[in-house]
Amino acid sequence: MGASKVVTRFAPSPTGFLHIGGARTALFNFLFARHHGGDFRLRIEDTDRARSTEPAIAAILDGLGWLNFDWDGEVVYQFARAARHADVAHQLLANGHAYRCYATPEELEAMRAAQRAAKQPMRYDGRWRDRSDWPNDAPHVIRLKAPQTGSVTIDDLVQGPVTVANAELDDMVLLRSDGTPTYMLAVVVDDHDMGVTHVIRGDDHLNNAFRQLALIRAMGWQEPAYAHIPLIHGADGAKLSKRHGALGVNEYRDQLGLLPEAVENYLLRLGWGHGDDEFISREQAVEWFDLSGVGRGPARFDMKKLESVNGHYLRQADDARLTALIAPGVGAALGREPTARDLDILQRSMAELKKRANNLNDLATSSLFYLRSRPIPMDDAAAKLLASAAPGILARARTAFAQGDDWSAPALENQARALADAAAVKLGQVAQPLRAAVTGAAQSPGLFDVMAMLGRDEILGRIDDALQMMEEGAKP
Ligand code: GLU
Repeated sequence: MGASKVVTRFAPSPTGFLHIGGARTALFNFLFARHHGGDFRLRIEDTDRARSTEPAIAAILDGLGWLNFDWDGEVVYQFARAARHADVAHQLLANGHAYRCYATPEELEAMRAAQRAAKQPMRYDGRWRDRSDWPNDAPHVIRLKAPQTGSVTIDDLVQGPVTVANAELDDMVLLRSDGTPTYMLAVVVDDHDMGVTHVIRGDDHLNNAFRQLALIRAMGWQEPAYAHIPLIHGADGAKLSKRHGALGVNEYRDQLGLLPEAVENYLLRLGWGHGDDEFISREQAVEWFDLSGVGRGPARFDMKKLESVNGHYLRQADDARLTALIAPGVGAALGREPTARDLDILQRSMAELKKRANNLNDLATSSLFYLRSRPIPMDDAAAKLLASAAPGILARARTAFAQGDDWSAPALENQARALADAAAVKLGQVAQPLRAAVTGAAQSPGLFDVMAMLGRDEILGRIDDALQMMEEGAKP
């Protein structure tokens, strides 16, 4: 028999949105599975009924879908499997690897108080471990009968070998007195039933792994390989929080205007590397990803870096796709649905526009001047340009352009040059006021391209608007 098929899983608790650390865990699981031709599964750990919410589940699915981390098979909802979890607890009870504990909450509290007073570590003391005088119908929990001597070593694929003495692990509860399974039981049973071969998750779960392993061994199940990846910290070294710009993944899309492939590339490089390669395609990532490339130190989240990676992907992105992505934002800013003509202009200008933007929001904003109705708004720098233009130069330009019938960019540029020569000024002294009139700004994509794109009527109209504005500005 050959080695079994690799199966990984991402197992978020839907108590909040998909955050950047979770998305990276999902990515590593996804890539590891794809690299080995295995399965990447998704399990929603919704056993905490008080804290799990439907909107959080929806946001997680939406975020994973946006990032294109497509999972195999059906989503597993942990809460729905409670009966199976309880069944395993009863199997352990039957085969002597678990026992009933009738200690009351008050008794346990007294036990802990005594441990505190004696400065001992707080652990369940095993008071029901070897008893068989069970008062059957009294409230009780089911605990794992864990080994008390020796030690467990996990050969973690990221952390290396990590050993814990069994004496440090007490007999954990598997089934609560109301018959509901604990999280620790649910995780182990689900991983087993889903055939998970590699558990790749945040290193905040490393301690859990030792107890989970005791349970796996008690059931005689196949042990998975573990890879506990360091958490993400902020640029200041502190644990990542909202303060560091650590938003939910959906907010990276909706508020920051980032592209999924940029977020993916950034997440990939956060704690994993392939030489000095900075931009790594999905295809390359699948080919190259391995757990030995995951660093042991905490990764540092850097918003500026993420934005610059996004700029790179924006410039690579297809113009039609970018047009579709900014259309809603453009529509909202214009206060109307973009027309077919608007979309055509956007798409044809995209090659120029995307050179200057690092995110979709800036891209949308920078495109508005093409589509705004006259008179277009003028920013301060543009107003200054017009106020300081050589007297009469814009009016002369209007006359010259109105006479020409070739509205191609090269022809327009030639006319502007001829005019500058005739007026004995530099081309910039014609082009800058013209740019202000045509775009409402001091900087823009190539002026003559813009003029050619918008056409004669619109451009002459915009020049007229600017001339009128100058005239009104000059009045006392
Ligand atoms: N549900 C856990 C979490 O969201 C993950 C558990 C696991 O990966 O084993 O932190």
